[in-house]
Amino acid sequence: MTTFLTVLVATVAYLGYRLQSLSVGGAITAFVVGVGILISFGYEGLLVLAIFFVSSTLLGRVPTRKFKREHEVRTVGQVFANGGVATLAALSSLLFVDDELAMILFISAFAAANSDTWATEGGRRWGGRPYHLRKRGRASIGRSGAITVVGTLFSFVGSALIALSGSILMLDGEWALLMTLAGFTGALADTLIGAFIQEERKCIHCQSMTEEKRHCGSKTKISRGVLGIDNNIVNTVSTMVAPLLSLFIFLLV
Ligand SMILES: [Zn+2]
Repeated sequence: MTTFLTVLVATVAYLGYRLQSLSVGGAITAFVVGVGILISFGYEGLLVLAIFFVSSTLLGRVPTRKFKREHEVRTVGQVFANGGVATLAALSSLLFVDDELAMILFISAFAAANSDTWATEGGRRWGGRPYHLRKRGRASIGRSGAITVVGTLFSFVGSALIALSGSILMLDGEWALLMTLAGFTGALADTLIGAFIQEERKCIHCQSMTEEKRHCGSKTKISRGVLGIDNNIVNTVSTMVAPLLSLFIFLLV
């Protein structure tokens, strides 16, 4: 079973690379994430990863006329930002952390990643013009630090989906509410850091604001925020906030 699932993980990572959804590094990181979760939590853990991966990918493919969907090749940083912390939480169960606690931390981290992705994909498709938390006004669609009502609902449902399925698969149906709230809070932290701390860059050619390091064939310039705090760092932090919150409450009760 484990051998079969390891081959399955390798195949998915390889296909991701072949279909240009993942860079070489991204594919290797995805493989490490999959196998790390598999050896820690077996197929149940892998199923939680699959629900995150499939649901957020499908949501990101829903056709829309609101914006042009650019083809994105996910790198090491992007894969780690979504699954790195969850994998470390899973691996902690092999060392010294209580199994139940490690599972809660693992599911909470993925709940945050899913919550954030769902908020972004749902919000920019069906949410209308977002409100920017720092600028206190309307922002362009998809911008970091901006929220919509619809996106916030998606954020909650995205977190609940992972928390509920993880709870049923791994924790006999327990801790679902805690993990839902933790994941949702992680995504909220993502938005707040995105609004107030994350670097914003500007294209030197077309003057558009972007998160990309390159635009129109040249390097972009930082226009505000903290240099180096990019989207990947913010996403990684958000997947850390959720398990830390769960840890705090777990130790409290
Ligand atoms: Zn440009």
